[in-house]
Amino acid sequence: MRTLQLPTGGEMPVLGLGTWRMGENAGHRAAEVKAVREAIALGYRLIDTAEMYGEGGAETVLGQAIGEALRAGDVRREELFVVSKVYPHNASRRGTRDACERSLKRLGLDAVDLYLLHWRGSHPLSETVAAMHLLVADGRIAHWGVSNFDTDDMEELAQAVGDGPECAANQVYLSLGERGPEFSLLPWLREHGMPLMAYSPIDQGALAEDDGLGELAERLGVTAAQLALAAVIARPGVAAIPKAVRSAHLKENLAAAELKLDAATLEELDRLHPPPRRKGPLAMI
Ligand code: NDP
Repeated sequence: MRTLQLPTGGEMPVLGLGTWRMGENAGHRAAEVKAVREAIALGYRLIDTAEMYGEGGAETVLGQAIGEALRAGDVRREELFVVSKVYPHNASRRGTRDACERSLKRLGLDAVDLYLLHWRGSHPLSETVAAMHLLVADGRIAHWGVSNFDTDDMEELAQAVGDGPECAANQVYLSLGERGPEFSLLPWLREHGMPLMAYSPIDQGALAEDDGLGELAERLGVTAAQLALAAVIARPGVAAIPKAVRSAHLKENLAAAELKLDAATLEELDRLHPPPRRKGPLAMI
């Protein structure tokens, strides 16, 4: 699969697996572990989670699935790129490190590959960044980044980084239905060599039911969800992390990473879902 270069060295696959809504219900656990194991067996290498998802439940599901996959020899740890996130209310200098330790314990890992501040809260950015730098120095995280940061937040963050490793990525809501970040945030991130990780790239499933997209997809011999994903990752510097539990969805989404959209298709997509004409507030889910 194509990868994106991180400004701090290393690379990240252009398509991964989201895990929001996993780990919320004990009755769904076996199916969720199975889905993550299937995803890894199919070839997913980037997996996104957060301490928030199921209040640690998603990380526990992931920990079990990754543990089983490693023991079965389906994957090697160094092939996986695991992302987790700290709650803003935990993102103090001490709290960030404690939250990370709790996440690592649930994930059964010695380190995560990317650790994000989930959204801006009341702790000063300088404190969160200082904690991130310590976590990198201690080998508990390979890279750090942010989520739900708009262009002005990124400017402010750049002032808080100082001499330590810089922010590696920004995860925001970007889909054909929500193209706001394409106006100024994505150009800013590109200029700084930072990937944008697009969350909810199928608009939480809604784009799979979009009639216009469905018609165009049918002509191309793909599904509407695949077209939605291919459109997002066709933008340079953008990775997408669709969530799926159903086997057919996992397979469809992974295959979308290999689709190449020609100029005529991209124009048609712009007609169906026009790009932003002005800067608006960053949308959040
Ligand atoms: P998505 O846009 O990824 O949509 C997920 C939904 O779409 C699920 O109901 C899934 O069904 C369905 N689906 C998946 N693939 C297909 C397909 N091929 N055809 C039809 N339906 C499909 O929404 P999410 O909000 O889950 O976003 C993805 C991930 O981004 C999250 O899981 C999370 O990791 C991250 N995220 C981050 C946020 C942040 O603040 N940083 C906020 C929101 C999300 P099923 O599961 O039944 O297969």
